Amino acid sequence: MKMRTLVVLGSTGSVGVSTLDVAARHPDRFEVLAMTAHRRIDLLFEQCRQFAPRYAVAADADHAEMLRTRVRAAGLSTEVLAGAEGLIRVASLPEADTVMAAIVGIAGLAPTLAAATAGKRVLLANKEALVTAGALLMDTVAQGGASLVPIDSEHNAIFQALPPHFAGDLGAVGVRRILLTASGGPFLDWTAERMAAATPEQACAHPNWVMGRKISVDSATMMNKGLEVIEARWLFNADPSQIQVVIHPQSVIHSLVEYVDGSVLAQLGNPDMRTPIACALAHPERVAAGVESLNLAQIGSLTFQEPDPARFPCLGLAYSALRAGSSAAVVLNAANEVAVAEFLAGRLRFDRIARLIEAMLERVPAQDVSSLSGVLAADCATREVAQEWLARQGLRVVENRA
Ligand code: NAD
Ligand code: MG
Repeated sequence: MKMRTLVVLGSTGSVGVSTLDVAARHPDRFEVLAMTAHRRIDLLFEQCRQFAPRYAVAADADHAEMLRTRVRAAGLSTEVLAGAEGLIRVASLPEADTVMAAIVGIAGLAPTLAAATAGKRVLLANKEALVTAGALLMDTVAQGGASLVPIDSEHNAIFQALPPHFAGDLGAVGVRRILLTASGGPFLDWTAERMAAATPEQACAHPNWVMGRKISVDSATMMNKGLEVIEARWLFNADPSQIQVVIHPQSVIHSLVEYVDGSVLAQLGNPDMRTPIACALAHPERVAAGVESLNLAQIGSLTFQEPDPARFPCLGLAYSALRAGSSAAVVLNAANEVAVAEFLAGRLRFDRIARLIEAMLERVPAQDVSSLSGVLAADCATREVAQEWLARQGLRVVENRA
């Protein structure tokens, strides 16, 4: 395999750190050209020391200056850039062939689109980009001659279980449906009353995966699976009726594809993001990821159940937004980002997350989201209505400190 030149957007996050871990195991195959972080300058500096990238990007001019001072003192030649412009510049570097999109939230959309426009191999962890701009991103990938390899473990599993010649037509390759597995998160067996009073720490204590705080809360509400249904719709050009969710608490089967002849192909593995990351980095080859062998006898049993729509209303809200089309998925995503941030700050009760999202889906008028500016306008409008709603409900108060 020829050397691949890599840009890691969100290098200080959970997926970013795992990406650098895999890349570091294969210095003969992957060269890290650029890395970006928001405000964790200490870690970004350590990463610069380890990988000596040509570029590093920080949130703003102040953070960039902090990093620049340290980079210079260490005698590194890394050029330090700042803000949204810096992200877009490194996402479209002519000398890069692969871009890992691992920023969390809609903040990752513009650089992901820039990488697609520039025709990169885009390794997509930033599911919010596809949720908010699915049609736009898929069109941009096609027009830019880019490719998209899913990093989300479920979608990477489906990617692996589909035939290599799959080109966006599930019917043409004999697929009947896609089964997304969900762990059920930390509250799978909790009563609704107990869930209502859950703390951020409890919500972030995922039984199987170690992840960033936003996606951890999404897993606890099961909005994560809702976002993944929308992600699957765009990645695999699937009709919503072809995508089903099944709870599988062990997180060993990462997802399944059912064919018309009744065959069901699954991808299994230990719950470690380095597996889908290594798969995407090296595709179509395989490289070691540092992940232990799966010990099925030790795991003993794999179990499955239906999701409970009463305790996990976010999943149904995501299906509704997907069916509504237009800007509904942007509204869903923005309302969820606001609600999760409020919950993590201790200002919103866990069970109000779904209520806020539902209220926004009812209130925010549909708008054109066929361009990046349209998506960002719908995102902004939702955030404003959400703040008004929070203020009116008197919910911007500390009420969930257990
Ligand atoms: P994280 O919070 O650990 O890391 C997020 C990264 O994005 C950090 O490097 C941070 O500095 C950067 N960032 C945050 N806000 C930013 C902003 N406004 N501008 C620029 N950079 C910003 O998140 P994570 O868990 O690594 O998740 C990243 C993405 O991958 C999310 O979209 C998540 O849904 C998806 N994902 C994560 C996992 C996982 O196991 N962690 C699995 C599947 C999908
Ligand atoms: Mg996932």
